[in-house]
Amino acid sequence: MAAALIPSALLMSAIVAVRYLLSSGGFALATRVRKPGLYSGLRRQIGREIGWSMVAALIYGVPAGVVAWGWQAHGWTRIYSDVHAFPLWYLPLSVLLYLAAHDSWFYWTHRWMHQPRLFRIAHAVHHASRPPTAWAAMSFHPWEAFTGAIVIPLLVFLIPIHVAALGLVLTIMTVMGVSNHMGWEMFPRFMVHGWAGKWLITASHHQRHHDLYTCNYGLYFRVWDRLCGTDKGLGSFKGEKV
Ligand SMILES: [Zn+2]
Ligand SMILES: [Zn+2]
Repeated sequence: MAAALIPSALLMSAIVAVRYLLSSGGFALATRVRKPGLYSGLRRQIGREIGWSMVAALIYGVPAGVVAWGWQAHGWTRIYSDVHAFPLWYLPLSVLLYLAAHDSWFYWTHRWMHQPRLFRIAHAVHHASRPPTAWAAMSFHPWEAFTGAIVIPLLVFLIPIHVAALGLVLTIMTVMGVSNHMGWEMFPRFMVHGWAGKWLITASHHQRHHDLYTCNYGLYFRVWDRLCGTDKGLGSFKGEKV
């Protein structure tokens, strides 16, 4: 069993690492084009962000490797590949369920990690990025990486999902994880400051978490923050008029 599990975990770690380098690298390049000089003077910080992210990628690969192996070798998990195994309306619903479950897990573990003692142990690494850059998307201490790495691998045992819908969930997770840290807003103003922005989290919302620490804990949705009174609205970026 271990003989099959280890290569599967290593392969998944490599995939997560490459996905990180391509997505963070891509958004860092976009930043260079759209906001020249935004990351100037942050070379050493970016080096640390990449280092922690590589360790995190290794950790993310382990539960993902177990799932990939269990799915392929034993048919474990509730991932399905026949699109008609469930009604078609279930496809978007399953994506929403995954995002909502991930968001809830993130909100509460994240809030928990902001208790002073735990913060120093598990979460200070992520907040050492001041201001965060596109490379900070996976800049987590191993403890924090562990809490993040187990969510989707646990959900695939609980909530049925088509393999392509799972791919979409992972893509949304990657794109939002990177863009929320890159130091500028890529979505149009009318969206961010309109109805959608009242409920969806983009860079303007997460930037404020990195500025103020004790608010805006959510990942995709502002629902928990609003319910729990921890939503402090949208932040602003370096060199931007408020
Ligand atoms: Zn962050
Ligand atoms: Zn935090």
